[in-house]
Amino acid sequence: MIPFVDLARQYASIRAELEAAILRAAEGSHYILGDEVSHFEAEFAEYCGVRHCVGVGSGTAALHLGMEAMGIGPGHEVIAPANTFIASILPILRLGARVVLVDCEPRYGGIDVGLAAAAVTRSTKAIVPVHLYGHPADVDSLRELCDRNGISVIEDACQAHGARHRGRRVGGLGQFAAFSFYPSKNLGALGDGGAVTTNDSELAGRVRLLRNLGEEQKGIHRILGWNERLDSIQAAALRVKLRYLDAWNERRRQHAAIYESALAGSGVVVPKAAVGAEHVWHLYPVMHPARDRLRDALAQEHIATGIHYPVPVHLQEALSGLGYRRGDFPVAERRAREQLSLPMFPELTTDDIEHVSENILRCCATEVGSVS
Ligand SMILES: *Cc1c(COP(=O)(O)O)cnc(C)c1O
Repeated sequence: MIPFVDLARQYASIRAELEAAILRAAEGSHYILGDEVSHFEAEFAEYCGVRHCVGVGSGTAALHLGMEAMGIGPGHEVIAPANTFIASILPILRLGARVVLVDCEPRYGGIDVGLAAAAVTRSTKAIVPVHLYGHPADVDSLRELCDRNGISVIEDACQAHGARHRGRRVGGLGQFAAFSFYPSKNLGALGDGGAVTTNDSELAGRVRLLRNLGEEQKGIHRILGWNERLDSIQAAALRVKLRYLDAWNERRRQHAAIYESALAGSGVVVPKAAVGAEHVWHLYPVMHPARDRLRDALAQEHIATGIHYPVPVHLQEALSGLGYRRGDFPVAERRAREQLSLPMFPELTTDDIEHVSENILRCCATEVGSVS
């Protein structure tokens, strides 16, 4: 049995350190915000090479509060890719702005910069590149486009902790970045958590107010805020795990290299990183025209896989009000039909990966191989 992710293996590998930190936070009895959160914020800001990090309740909250702090709202348009997790765009809608979706480019699955450029209007306030699967988007090209038009880049870095674009870490490449610490992310808490990172002091200050009911000092509420705070116990766990992040990402890179060579000639299209992109392989997405049959055949062999994403955002029922239709974003729709995420987490063994790869080779050569 090969699971898609196995968080228990990670827990076991750092059990003593993690449990000591959790107990320390519990005994400290701050529970919400407090020193553990401040220390984590300082450490994660330094890791990302940015001036500010503000811990919040989730990645979705990070996008929401960051956008709200920028003043995004009614009358504004925000450009985002069709091939992403719905959380990338829900905050835009919740703030009353208009979502303008564009297709992704076929090789890496990130937002297509040319299509984004064509979607810019006078009302455009920001573009949201998603560092999808852990692959940094082409932020330099987007920055150029945005600078020319006086609009902002907002990084959805929820899948890309530690990734680099041309040598610089994601998190400080735009107006702000949103990170998620959902347990299965490359840096995951023991529950929900997230962070906004930014070099903009004013924006960071507003997010601090927004996350904590707009409270400036005890009992004094300056703006209308939310309750979107990070817990001490989560921060304590994240501080332990942050020390392992680079080593874990390195393991993911090794796994990706093994998959790539083992799957050569198998019939699945393997992912590659763009020049200048330091990928952190949150997922390992392959493509195959008979994806569903391949997935079933692997399940028969007790190999778990995932699909990211089975329904692109423009075809989700919840977003039918946006007025998009099937056929609007063919690259995202093709990914929805053909993309398959293979098991990927640091604690996988080389044997696990070779076992998965051998099964893919065999399945492609036999039961699913004849489909094109
Ligand atoms: C996980 C994720 C989010 C949301 O993070 P939560 O912590 O689950 O709210 C947003 N965008 C992308 C691309 C994600 O993968």
